[in-house]
Amino acid sequence: MTYREILQQGEDLLQKAEDPDCKTDAWLLFSYCLRMDRAQYMCMMQDIAPDFLSFVYMALVRKKAGGCPVQYLLGTQSFMGLDFFVNEDVLIPRSDTEVLAEQTLRQLPRGGRMLDLCTGSGCIAVAVKHLRPDAQVWASDLSEDVLTVARLNADYHQADICFVQSDLLEDIPERFDLIVSNPPYIETAEIEDLAVQVRDYEPRMALDGGADGLAYYRRILRTAGSRLHPKGRLLLEIGCGQGQTVSALAAENGWTDIEIQKDLAGCDRVLSAKMRSEICNV
Ligand code: GLN
Repeated sequence: MTYREILQQGEDLLQKAEDPDCKTDAWLLFSYCLRMDRAQYMCMMQDIAPDFLSFVYMALVRKKAGGCPVQYLLGTQSFMGLDFFVNEDVLIPRSDTEVLAEQTLRQLPRGGRMLDLCTGSGCIAVAVKHLRPDAQVWASDLSEDVLTVARLNADYHQADICFVQSDLLEDIPERFDLIVSNPPYIETAEIEDLAVQVRDYEPRMALDGGADGLAYYRRILRTAGSRLHPKGRLLLEIGCGQGQTVSALAAENGWTDIEIQKDLAGCDRVLSAKMRSEICNV
């Protein structure tokens, strides 16, 4: 088969599997596995390719057609313009989360200390440290396997980050200028209705926010106030439609100056708040 026919075969299989991005995904897997960019492909598309390569390629395409996200097959996802290694231990970084990362960059004082809770791939912490080398960046996660991925990403981008294995703030004794988190926030029952790529491949631990999706917000809002410096702020990614509920929860837990920022699609995306000073100073 020619290179062109191999690519076409990949596209056809993904189209049959109803992949809405079949052309892009077929090309991404093709260029990864045949180590070819567009210009090389244009020159070689009519040449006969080794059978070996077409077998390797089609094996990947079949996995994609079965629902495996292309990022887990390629092992990477871009976030804030940086490449991150991802495997099935970590959530694939989302462009929505760039709103949280940008807000973090804006609100972090010069030389300030921040903590990224539920760091996953480390995308937020690593991007912030990369863009703001003056910052003291801490990041935590419950799982050691997850932290292995985050550490790898930090090393790759030469980001000096203090990683701690901890159940939210439990094993972190410090105080911070900014605590940020994109915690799991999907209602348990809703997980079954998610797209196969998410439901069957992404880690449940990174998605499941308990019966009402708010379990992690409750815990963070209860504990983060006493771990911030007096002028410190908390930034939380929230699900579309969770703005009012999480704001109310924040107010009940002594947070003030609560703001909700929307993402590019106009959905509630980031909650920002500070602790009432009388609580923060105790
Ligand atoms: N902080 C990581 C991200 O934003 C992981 C979040 C999570 O696992 N819930 O992608």
